[in-house]
Amino acid sequence: MHAEPPSETVILSAAKDPSAVQVSAADPGFPGVQRLFPLPLPETQTIYCDVALPVPLDMIFTYEAGALDPIVGGRVVVPFGRGAEKKLSGIVTRVHCEPPETRKLKRVLQVLDTLPVLDDNLLALGRWIAQYYLAPIGEVYRTMLPLQAEFRQASGYRITELGSEALYDSANEGSSRRSQKSSDHQMSEYSVLDALSEGELVREERLRTATGATREVLRTLQQKKWIVREDLSGVRDARRLVKVVVLRDGLDQPNAHKLNAAQQLIVDLLRESHGRMRIDELREKGTSASSLKTLVKHDLVEILEEAVEQSVPQMKPRTTLEFLFTPDQKKALEKIRGSVDERRFQVALLHGVTGSGKTAVYLAAMQSVLAAGRGSILLVPEIGLTPGVAADLYGVFGEQIAILHSSLSDAERAEQWHRIRRGEARIAVGTRSAIFAPVHDLALIIVDEEQDNSYKQEETPRYHGRDVAIVRAKALNATVVLGSATPSLESYHNATRGKYALIELPDRVQARPLPEVELIDMREEFQQTGKESVLSRKLIEETTASLDRGEQAMILLNRRGYSAWVMCRSCGDTLQCRDCAVAMTFHKRQQRLLCHYCGYKAPVPKNCPKCGSEYVQFLGTGSEKLEDILHSAFPKARIGRMDRDTVHGHDDFERMLSDFQAGDIDLLIGTQMIAKGHDVHGVTLVGVVGADSALGLPDFRAAERTFQLLTQVAGRAGRGEMLGKVVLQTHFPEHYAVQFAAHHDYHGFAEKELRFRGWMHYPPFDALANVVVRSDKQEEALRYSGVLGRWFEQVRHEGVRVMGPAPAPITRLKKDYRFHFVLKAASRERLNAVLRTMLALADLQKIPRGNIVVDVDAMSLS
Ligand SMILES: [Zn+2]
Ligand SMILES: [Zn+2]
Repeated sequence: MHAEPPSETVILSAAKDPSAVQVSAADPGFPGVQRLFPLPLPETQTIYCDVALPVPLDMIFTYEAGALDPIVGGRVVVPFGRGAEKKLSGIVTRVHCEPPETRKLKRVLQVLDTLPVLDDNLLALGRWIAQYYLAPIGEVYRTMLPLQAEFRQASGYRITELGSEALYDSANEGSSRRSQKSSDHQMSEYSVLDALSEGELVREERLRTATGATREVLRTLQQKKWIVREDLSGVRDARRLVKVVVLRDGLDQPNAHKLNAAQQLIVDLLRESHGRMRIDELREKGTSASSLKTLVKHDLVEILEEAVEQSVPQMKPRTTLEFLFTPDQKKALEKIRGSVDERRFQVALLHGVTGSGKTAVYLAAMQSVLAAGRGSILLVPEIGLTPGVAADLYGVFGEQIAILHSSLSDAERAEQWHRIRRGEARIAVGTRSAIFAPVHDLALIIVDEEQDNSYKQEETPRYHGRDVAIVRAKALNATVVLGSATPSLESYHNATRGKYALIELPDRVQARPLPEVELIDMREEFQQTGKESVLSRKLIEETTASLDRGEQAMILLNRRGYSAWVMCRSCGDTLQCRDCAVAMTFHKRQQRLLCHYCGYKAPVPKNCPKCGSEYVQFLGTGSEKLEDILHSAFPKARIGRMDRDTVHGHDDFERMLSDFQAGDIDLLIGTQMIAKGHDVHGVTLVGVVGADSALGLPDFRAAERTFQLLTQVAGRAGRGEMLGKVVLQTHFPEHYAVQFAAHHDYHGFAEKELRFRGWMHYPPFDALANVVVRSDKQEEALRYSGVLGRWFEQVRHEGVRVMGPAPAPITRLKKDYRFHFVLKAASRERLNAVLRTMLALADLQKIPRGNIVVDVDAMSLS
């Protein structure tokens, strides 16, 4: 099924709770000796290195180093697979001279680094992630390094003689016969051969877009020996390399080579510029190439290739931010500073109501860390870094900061990473993966909006950025600040138990009051008006009043598109995605149906595809339709819409927010994107049109998520001089999540919800994992989940509750049929041990690793 590894070392180890584990760089399980200098080994001894490769296998691969000098924590390029037809770049985890017992080993092809790209601490952090989240170590290390621009995977295909013959034969057979008898698969094979018929090498992406061929088709063609694959992977260093001449110290030796005038000129010029100079500059000064060559020959100078800095915009500190702190803010800052100064590991939960000035506390804490010559990381949620905060960050920290935002290209991302590693930038700001930034002397990690779901990666490795932050800080004796207006129950629970320090900012700055919240029961609204309307009379009235006063308003509808689903009134069928068991959403501007899970697009049907009826109905309201409704209700208002259809990147987000900030938009509507942390002073009204639909779903985090969203969006109102008001439309007015949000009562909500979680053995009390078994063949998905189900049933696992197998809530996703198990255990060690044994069993039963998804601390069970 998968390529055979050259040799293997299976990683087996238990993992612990992120807040309990001690990561040690000197982990005896991984005796890595950094080999910056050649080891004092007998010359005849062969040197081997263990390499973690980005493949979905829980193992490390051993290669022969040959004449090369790989270092632990550095990258190497190696051949991989049965025929070694692939080149992969991986991280060296160990250099040694113990010959493995297995087959003949392959050799390292290239060493990419002379200094480690992952230091001992980051290597250890990667091992912790691999163990805790049961993820292949090579995939973990790939995730930790944003250096894709420097080595790219690529391949191409060429037709063989046999392939040309087959193409010729099929043409002679006549196309009519062929199309009658052939399957889609065969048709696809011939179109690939057609595309390659000129005999040239064609890149895989180009070939697949041109012919629509699947990987499977390409594989079959290779097996028939009709085409051959060629690996085009290689180093594509984003950094421009220049040649630099460096002076060596042989000149003072008594038997040194006597210099002539031309050579002396070179040496003098080099001495003037601290012993090094770019070769082109040296030439410009009129030195001769042959003299330089002679100096190299006598070992008096050396020519090196070095990366040049890509031009970084000059960002001199412009302002010193004046912090006018409330007593609570001052106290918070002092506590954080104290812990940083003591160089003691501590996690502080900074619980501050919306508008209480958490960001100013972060900036001041980071400033004092920088003043002490140390480094910090600020994690922000996806699309969480607002233009205002980014401007403040540049203003305060200038060139000392590296912002890793989503609109950077791979090359720019790599360059920012190098700036941090060289120590030019001491502060890294970014989303989830910025937690791996190689910041020097890391003293402080701040996780803003720590409850945000975007900190959990939804693909392998399924790590949680906040939890990784805590583990990284622990190993470095650093301080972690988790900031939120609505802390996750996990963090709040740890704070109430005294595991984390709790810092509260209970008041808004300048003693501004929290906005008044009015609940509108939409069931009553229906009874009184006799029609199903999107906007209640109250919300229309308040919006009119606010616009008349020249103030700004926001309306949240947490669903994009025009109509949420399309149904046939004759047969009752809902239109579903081709590849997922999910209703397609109608997008009016694009005139398309769209699957929000896989992105599949389909034309809008005039007739029901199933029964042919023309009674096709568009149901449910999305943000696009809300925009239309508001345009007709408020024809004079300038309306802006913010959702994934209008905001494609960081730039769109910034542009729209600055328009809103500048007062060029009166009414901003959108999905949860509009709820995130920005600070627009003109907003006095916030309407919530649809944010509680999740409360009807069987998801144990639904109440928490709804409470958080309602609190966040309500917090956008009244941040300036004027009072704020919130109109919250709901179908669940009695639900405690809605009630506590309406009363701005976080503690009330948290206590009630924690009691419920305790009874039901859900996190934060029990550890939880979701195991999804998937396959594009239904019977295979069934069989695999049956194998695991029987094993769970037969082997009693003390202290671990197993529910399933059951069809996953989304039974089909991106062509895969899905079944799942939910595992809960009071002991995390035990849970992880069972998961590990399960994966070993699956391996024995020949279930491919890629067909089992293990999600430890799953945020969603769908
Ligand atoms: Zn129908
Ligand atoms: Zn889909």
